[in-house]
Amino acid sequence: MPSTYKTVILGGGNASGYAAKAFVESGIAPGDLAIVTEEPYVAYERPALSKGYLLGAARLPGFHTCVGGGGERQAPEWYAEKGITYLTNAHVTKADLAARTLTLASGDTISYSQNLIIATGARAVKLTEFGVPGADLSGIHYLRDVKDADALVAAVAATKEASGKAVIVGGGYIGMECAAGLASTGLAGATTIVMPEDRLMARLLTPQLAAVYERLYGAKGVAVVKGAKVTAFTGKDGKVTGVTYTDAAGASHTLEASLVVVGVGARANTELFTGQLDMAAGGIKVDYMMATSVPGVYAVGDVAAFPLTSVATGAVAHARQEHVTHCRSSAAQAVKAITSTSAPPPAYEYLPYFYSRVFNLSWVFYGEAAADATTVHFGDMNEAKVFGCLWLGAGGRLVGAFLEGGSADEAGVLKSAVAQGLKGLEAAALDTASGSGLVAALKAKL
Ligand SMILES: Cc1cc2nc3c(=O)[nH]c(=O)nc-3n(C[C@H](O)[C@H](O)[C@H](O)COP(=O)(O)OP(=O)(O)OC[C@H]3O[C@@H](n4cnc5c(N)ncnc54)[C@H](O)[C@@H]3O)c2cc1C
Repeated sequence: MPSTYKTVILGGGNASGYAAKAFVESGIAPGDLAIVTEEPYVAYERPALSKGYLLGAARLPGFHTCVGGGGERQAPEWYAEKGITYLTNAHVTKADLAARTLTLASGDTISYSQNLIIATGARAVKLTEFGVPGADLSGIHYLRDVKDADALVAAVAATKEASGKAVIVGGGYIGMECAAGLASTGLAGATTIVMPEDRLMARLLTPQLAAVYERLYGAKGVAVVKGAKVTAFTGKDGKVTGVTYTDAAGASHTLEASLVVVGVGARANTELFTGQLDMAAGGIKVDYMMATSVPGVYAVGDVAAFPLTSVATGAVAHARQEHVTHCRSSAAQAVKAITSTSAPPPAYEYLPYFYSRVFNLSWVFYGEAAADATTVHFGDMNEAKVFGCLWLGAGGRLVGAFLEGGSADEAGVLKSAVAQGLKGLEAAALDTASGSGLVAALKAKL
């Protein structure tokens, strides 16, 4: 095996898989590309881990990239057929950008003659980092990769078998999706979410939207404890037995737990490049081509801090987006910039997009949940069918849109309406009775 390639991708996650797809589509020659990852698998669609994987419905090789993006499934044979070298179980311990060389934990090196694409993603923030007493007890889980998901699936089965209890720390995406997964696989009535905020997914959901999901979680046997700050974990023989938190009034409580899942955010894996690349917003700073401060070196996906134009204000600031659509499009952008033989591609434009699926519900959100916007709820939120919320900024401009239960076409309408910055919408003039009716009215304005 040669140790120098024209291009090396560091990281084998979502962005890496889509970068490989884009290279193949651009007609890369066999032998030109190598991918290095510490995971034992070639790239897969990470979002499945907190959804189908917990339910037992998704297992590798069923969800390798680019299944989520509607492309060919890139199992290990796919890379081999395309002449792409894929090093798995290969943790990179050092990156020397001046020498264009990566050093692996094994001591081997791999070099690139032209381009490095950094796709190291992010890792779960651990409560041990904050010195929370007991945070290193066994039975406390995080969810980032297949290994974590396998451990969690086994722990759920053991907890169910022992009639134990589970506590989820954090009411964001990971917390909500994991709680739904646990409740759906035998821990209904034995799962509690604890979070410091006053509602689920507080950064995105309005109190009215959050209330719908909180009712659903209650009905599915998941308790939600709000305003609760976790202060310690209790344990016995090195294994977690409880989660202690203080409530809004400062009183301390302990919930029994033989299984804990922590979902309190992620941190970009930038450390290999400290002092070698410019950084911004907790990530590696890139321009509109995904190019870093060192020529020939690009960053894509969760690790990249790119110039993002605010839908609400038009201001441009470097930001990271931990989402698969950004992984796909930033990877494609970097590959276009690298392979373009004429003019560079148009500047990267990204409309923030989020989605989630819990129980039988499924929502999408486009744009920004701007704090100073007027919110307009629509649809039947009691029946929890097609409903949502619009965020209207200055001049009645649509800056954010949330849709639960709509069709793909209806989601597309909201996406276009936010992307086009539909203006002159008046909250009082919108007929909000029917979710689909409101979406149809917006469609007529496009
Ligand atoms: C459980 C879960 C559920 C999610 N659900 C959704 C969702 O519903 N919708 C959505 O849009 N997004 C979701 N996300 C976020 C989405 O998965 C990420 O945005 C995406 O995976 C980021 O892709 P990436 O390629 O940038 O990084 P990653 O997919 O994290 O890949 C990074 C890769 O680099 C490897 N690596 C890092 N450092 C090194 C090193 N030093 N040496 C070798 N290899 C290294 C890692 O092991 C990993 O394989 C979810 C994330 C998680 C964890």
